[in-house]
Amino acid sequence: MILRDYRGVETPCPVCAGWGVRGYASTARWRGGVGGQMLTSGVCDRCWGSGDESKPGVDLWEVEATRARAEKAEAEVRRLSDALDAAARIVKRKADRAAGREET
Ligand SMILES: [Zn+2]
Repeated sequence: MILRDYRGVETPCPVCAGWGVRGYASTARWRGGVGGQMLTSGVCDRCWGSGDESKPGVDLWEVEATRARAEKAEAEVRRLSDALDAAARIVKRKADRAAGREET
């Protein structure tokens, strides 16, 4: 097929036949979940758009998982930062008290 040749597909994906897109029975496409009852085209969730089984494109599930991990790590950093701030306030209060200064 001309388009597949142009795209450099050597092992056509069995799901999308090398097109990189497929029809989903729901408008939610590859994410699944709530969607309308129409046939919607979206990036193929097997080859991730490359059309080639041996050279898959970016796995959007993996991207989502990575983003979720990053968000979790970010929340943890924020929590640790808050804990450090609280500890620093306690240390400062103790140091002020030891120096004979009263806290206002
Ligand atoms: Zn495919």
